[in-house]
Amino acid sequence: MTAQTPNPTPQSPRKEQRTLTWAERLYLPEVLRGLRNTWRHLFRKPFTIDYDGTERASPLKYHTPRPGYRGEHYLKKDEDGHVKCVACFMCAAACPAECIHIEAAPTPPDWKDRERYPVRFEIDLLRCIYCGYCEEACPVDAIALSPTYNLCSVTREEKIYNCEKLLADGERYGLSLSTHRYRPDGVPGATPAAQGSAH
Ligand code: SF4
Ligand code: SF4
Repeated sequence: MTAQTPNPTPQSPRKEQRTLTWAERLYLPEVLRGLRNTWRHLFRKPFTIDYDGTERASPLKYHTPRPGYRGEHYLKKDEDGHVKCVACFMCAAACPAECIHIEAAPTPPDWKDRERYPVRFEIDLLRCIYCGYCEEACPVDAIALSPTYNLCSVTREEKIYNCEKLLADGERYGLSLSTHRYRPDGVPGATPAAQGSAH
């Protein structure tokens, strides 16, 4: 038969019940003290910022993430205002989440610098893992990730960004124009190093 071990956590002594004073039983002084605190904080300068950023001139100024932060995507345009994308599917192939969906079509006759463009370009941001591979894979600098991190939605459909939305976001961020050039023969795929030889 083993000896019983003493309880290592002895019970704390019971607190003595304090008798409330007459004023405390009224509760009114405590209520007034609470209101005084509230009023004092009402007139202090707030040290928080509005989450919706309505007082900021640019959505990029809500909060500046660290350099290299990968936020929501946008698409760029060329100098003629056309979508820069040439529908090569490189970004979709590189995407590990398979959340980029593109449909290609022949370009209109007045688009002389490429053969195809995307009639449908969608990114499902609910599946995206923000790895940035799509941006790295793009041969013509058409897609990029922005510093935007705080765009909310109330439906799942809102987080499927189409071409118009992605282009509009590029404009909104002031990052829309891509000066990356195509190869001199008009074939897309010029590397940045080849830009100098483009005409
Ligand atoms: S950031 Fe990554 S997961 Fe998101 S669309 Fe681009 S490649 Fe796909
Ligand atoms: S890699 Fe670039 S050019 Fe190719 S489909 Fe994607 S965004 Fe368009």
